[in-house]
Amino acid sequence: MDYHRGMPELPEVEVCARGLARLVNGYRVDEARCTQAGRIVNPKGDAAAWVAGLAGRTLVDVARRGKRLILRLDDDRALVFGFGLWAEVTVSDAEPEELHGAVLWLTGGPDGGVRRALAFDKLALSTLSLEAWGPPAAGPPYDALDRRVDGTALGALARGRAGLKAFLTDERFLLGVGNGYSDEILWEARLHPRQPAGSLAPEEWARLAQAMRRTLEAAVAAGGEAGFLDPFGAAGRYERRIHHHGGDPCPRCGQPLAALTSGGRETDYCPACQGL
Ligand SMILES: [Zn+2]
Repeated sequence: MDYHRGMPELPEVEVCARGLARLVNGYRVDEARCTQAGRIVNPKGDAAAWVAGLAGRTLVDVARRGKRLILRLDDDRALVFGFGLWAEVTVSDAEPEELHGAVLWLTGGPDGGVRRALAFDKLALSTLSLEAWGPPAAGPPYDALDRRVDGTALGALARGRAGLKAFLTDERFLLGVGNGYSDEILWEARLHPRQPAGSLAPEEWARLAQAMRRTLEAAVAAGGEAGFLDPFGAAGRYERRIHHHGGDPCPRCGQPLAALTSGGRETDYCPACQGL
């Protein structure tokens, strides 16, 4: 089936991290291979150095912060991955034929000895010290599913006339919400994407915080967006209702959804239930 597949955001990366949690109990990197040095962000473009630092290391933990996937190694470093358009992480017993990125061949773990290929296709690859990716700082920026993020916390971050969509997707404040899910969240909260963030009342902030949590949690529970595949090939079932649905009837009031385009990014919303 031919799916429209959007840019992975927090829910898809969370689904990927949960899937990979099965692969971190004592799995060892037998061999690492990079097929596209340009994907390596740190050490920049240096495939040999990236690969040399991985052989013989054991994976000890998997985590997510915002839209980044983090695999902790047993030597106080972490592999950090950024998802771009079409990015895919797969686990199989063979290396994908066309791979734009890197593969880690793993052995060990509970099934002992079976070599498996953990492949990263079209992801940005970095190796960083754990200090850089240890427990999240006091914040901001907050992970969008951080328990501390409620209406009061969001309201305290907002300044000035920047619109709500720009606010939700600004990585100085929040990590994990991008162009797609921000449209779903603002529709759920009945707030206009261009409403100045500095103008919201406390009850509107509370509504926005609840809508954000509800939307992201529902998408994680559904395995991510439809068309997204987890590392073991299971397909996501979350259907976006607003983003890329300009012209369709609003699922709440039936009026046509509107589409705005700015800087090549599309914003969809309902002019009837998300008034300015
Ligand atoms: Zn509506």
